Order: sequence, then structure tokens, then C-alpha cells
Amino acid sequence: MPTLLRRLALLALVPSALVWTGAVLEPATAAFEPNAPTPAALAEEQALDKMLAQRAAALAALDQRADVRDRQLLGRQAVLARFGYHGDPDNVRVVLPLASYSVSAAFGLTGPLWEAEHGGQDFGAASGESLVAVSAGTITEVADAGPYGLRTILTLDDGTEVWYCHQSSVSAVEGQRVDVAEPIGSVGSTGNSVGPHLHFEIRPDGEAPIDPMAWLREAGLAP
Ligand SMILES: [Zn+2]
Repeated sequence: MPTLLRRLALLALVPSALVWTGAVLEPATAAFEPNAPTPAALAEEQALDKMLAQRAAALAALDQRADVRDRQLLGRQAVLARFGYHGDPDNVRVVLPLASYSVSAAFGLTGPLWEAEHGGQDFGAASGESLVAVSAGTITEVADAGPYGLRTILTLDDGTEVWYCHQSSVSAVEGQRVDVAEPIGSVGSTGNSVGPHLHFEIRPDGEAPIDPMAWLREAGLAP
């Protein structure tokens, strides 16, 4: 039966015909396949990738800045702790005038060393021990003050004068604005002094001195 044979022959051809048409047609139809990106979609995707990369870089930079700030804060915290302040560095208002000392002659004492009552608090310390601004303010005097020796006067923003006497060296100049805990000089034994120490005075409004220990304690410190 020639007709049947022809049909069988045609059937045998069908699979290869499908493969052949598929192989040839696929590239031609690819451009119209819904899942294939169009040039516009590709450009959009690339722009998105670029934006994401930029955002990742910005976040990394932000992280890095946060790290630096953390380290600075930790450093600042450690510095403030040396000067008796253990709270949040952002809230620091007052610190001790020096880090390493022994409490010596108290305020209000009378004796052969002083003409009148002892107008300040003495802190025995090694010569060269760093002195820092107890609070933010302005340096209003740096001078040799006779019995007080080399003296720096720091005037705080509320008008309180802080005296640092008998210094061996000074590191701030008159008119200079200083921040809390900023170095202003170092301990010495200049003037009427029998050994290296800081004679420290607190004078509200530049008037009569008050007990510096009480002033420091009132500021939350434990000298
Ligand atoms: Zn003194």
C-alpha cells in the first residue's frame, strides 16, 4: 500500500522536523520572548545595579565613620575617666584639674605658709603632671604671679575664675578658648612653694575663693 507507506515515512520525519524547526526558529523568536530582557530593561537593570553598588559603598562609608566616631568616643571616654568623669562624654561639664595627685593642704587652713587663710586646695603631684581645663572657658591670664608662681587663670562661661598656680610650664595663651579637659599647662613648684603641687582656686565671679573640693563635688566629681 503505497499510501500507508508514505504516511509512515512522513511520521518518521516528524520528530526531526520538529527539532529542525525548533533549532532554527528559536533565535528568531528569542527577541519576542517575554522573559528575555529588552535593551531598555537591561539598561534599567544596569542603572539599578549601579545605584545599589553606590548605596552599598555609602553604607560602608557610614559604617566606617561610625567606627571612627566609636573609637573617638572610647578615646574621649578614657581621657575623661582619667580626670574623674565617668559619664556620657557628650554630657561632660566638669572634670578634675589633673589625673594623678594626692590631696594635700585643704582650703581655709591657716599657718606659716600662707599670709591669710589658704585660698585654695593643694594637690601634690609630680612636676610636669598635665593640668587641664576643669570646664570650658577662656584663658584670661597667664603670668608670673609672685607667691602663686606661674599662674594660669581660666574664666568659665558663668564668670567663675579657676586658678592654676605654681606651674612649671603653660600651654595656653591669654584669650584662648579651651574645652573641658583640654591641657593648659603642667604642675611645678614656682613661686611660694615647697614642692611640686597644684594650688587650685575657684573664685565665683572672680570674687573671694570658695572651697574647690566642694565645688568639684557639687559638679558630681569625687576628688
Ligand atoms: Zn596652696
